[in-house]
Amino acid sequence: MRVRRISTILGGTAALAFALTACGTADVGGGSGGDGGGEGGGDTITIGVKYDQPGLGLLEGDAPVGFDVDVATYIAGELGYEPDQIEWAEAASANRESFLQQGTVDMVVATYSITDERREVVDFAGPYYVAQQDILVSADNEDIQGPEDLEGRVLCSASGSRSAHNIVDDMGIDAELREAGNYSECLSLLGNGAVDAVTTDNTILAGFAAQDPGTYRVVNNPFGEERYGVGLPAGSTERCEEVNAAIAQMWEEGYATEALENAFGETDFAYEESAPEVDACQ
Ligand code: GLU
Repeated sequence: MRVRRISTILGGTAALAFALTACGTADVGGGSGGDGGGEGGGDTITIGVKYDQPGLGLLEGDAPVGFDVDVATYIAGELGYEPDQIEWAEAASANRESFLQQGTVDMVVATYSITDERREVVDFAGPYYVAQQDILVSADNEDIQGPEDLEGRVLCSASGSRSAHNIVDDMGIDAELREAGNYSECLSLLGNGAVDAVTTDNTILAGFAAQDPGTYRVVNNPFGEERYGVGLPAGSTERCEEVNAAIAQMWEEGYATEALENAFGETDFAYEESAPEVDACQ
């Protein structure tokens, strides 16, 4: 297994930007550019990441940047793909399973929580990070301090995510759900007063709050566990083992904490600094 120095990838913003600018961007509608093989080392690997989530996966110029993008780049490296062999594709919360099922992408690294329901149709390696859920409101909103304050309020989340269902279905809170295509749409709806609050992972909310200081408030009353997995097509046991080994090494080498620091170091967000225990591949 190749051991790559963290500095090669995260040696500086310029180096990272250079590496990522050199990468292709997938034509999402046009099928996979990846080889889909288990051994790696094919021509390219197509990876689905978010394009609208600051700190995690955000399109800057013609390539995405953020923690998930760094994690994906590291894992691809361990599978035998150089950064310029990665084709990025924009994954939305609602199309992650179908992208993997249809072969549009070879791998998804997109704030993708491991759930039993999703495991029925895709495989997961990881988790590589464990987030929690939280709530974002306008900076001047003092009324909403936790999920129970969402009774009767208009609540936005992205369709295809678990976040709103965790509150409405699992916690039984009677909020009026407004589903958007992604979280940046939720932020626009919050900005113009169409919704009272946005709920999703604390990582995602921290990234948005930091982008517009003084505009939003993360309630900072986290709940639940969102275990971020690397989504793989069903039946990828061998590749899952390879990805799990890469995740362990990424934490051991300090790359994961460096990537988190890079993403959130200048925000108020107290990210997890210890390696999560990965699940056995199925
Ligand atoms: N991690 C949660 C999920 O996978 C919410 C974030 C997202 O939609 O990407 O449902």
